[in-house]
Amino acid sequence: MLDSIPLWFAPLAVACFGLAVGSFCNVAIHRVPREGLSVRSPSRSHCPSCGTQLLWSDNLPVLSWLLLRARCRHCKQPVSWRYPAVELLVAGLMLALWSVQQPASTEAWLVFGVGAVFAATCVVVSAIDLEFWILPDVVTLPGTAIGVVLSAALPALHAAHPGFRLDNPHGSATVLALTGALAGGGSLWLVGQLGNLALRKKIEEAGVSDAMGLGDVKWMALCGTLLGPLLVLEAILAACFLGALVGIALKLIHRIRGGRGPVGLPFGPFLSVGALVELAWPGSVWGLMNTLLGGAA
Ligand SMILES: [Zn+2]
Repeated sequence: MLDSIPLWFAPLAVACFGLAVGSFCNVAIHRVPREGLSVRSPSRSHCPSCGTQLLWSDNLPVLSWLLLRARCRHCKQPVSWRYPAVELLVAGLMLALWSVQQPASTEAWLVFGVGAVFAATCVVVSAIDLEFWILPDVVTLPGTAIGVVLSAALPALHAAHPGFRLDNPHGSATVLALTGALAGGGSLWLVGQLGNLALRKKIEEAGVSDAMGLGDVKWMALCGTLLGPLLVLEAILAACFLGALVGIALKLIHRIRGGRGPVGLPFGPFLSVGALVELAWPGSVWGLMNTLLGGAA
């Protein structure tokens, strides 16, 4: 029966699913960091400018934004480009993961589904971190528990991790999820403590509490449950590398434009990129590092 489904059906279905999930991500990005709002209540979407409840036809991913020319139908206030951007990004990430994993069995589709939801979660926490500099507990804490339960139920999530044992997959995956959470959260916490020691003076000057927020620690505990201990460490390595590159570039641009004082970016988005790379291509960061270091020697 599966043979009769045309080849274009799966990517089209994944893209539509991604757009729909992306639309939900917009709701989460808007509501989670704001007090008194949650993803469940109010149940219908409202215009953030005039508060008018949106018709379902004005709430279609990307399409409504284009048809309404980026304005609210009622108050004509502009609707941010961020809404369609988030929807396209989530759909794009899911399509990319689908094309890398090419799931063919039920189990492979379940693994892909978990990865797809994780990718959407990465977009939500990164967007919130970029705007508010927080990684909300309401996502990271239950997410970490869900990651452990999913690993125990679906051991194939960890099949690519070194040390995964086929003769006892459920136990093996549970151990990898738990040690992954410890390795991800613990190593970042340690880096934060060292950062506090090294940057004590600067931190006092800037009036912030810590070099590394506990939000990053909890976010990496969640990522660790799905990646396992070795892959989550690679994800953190990639995030440090990327963060340093982008940080230096931003500082240069800032100086060239005549700006003074510190420029900063939250770390959450870099951690998310690292985690997504390791999810799609397990072990790739280590491989790349080896090639670069081997090439330099
Ligand atoms: Zn409006």
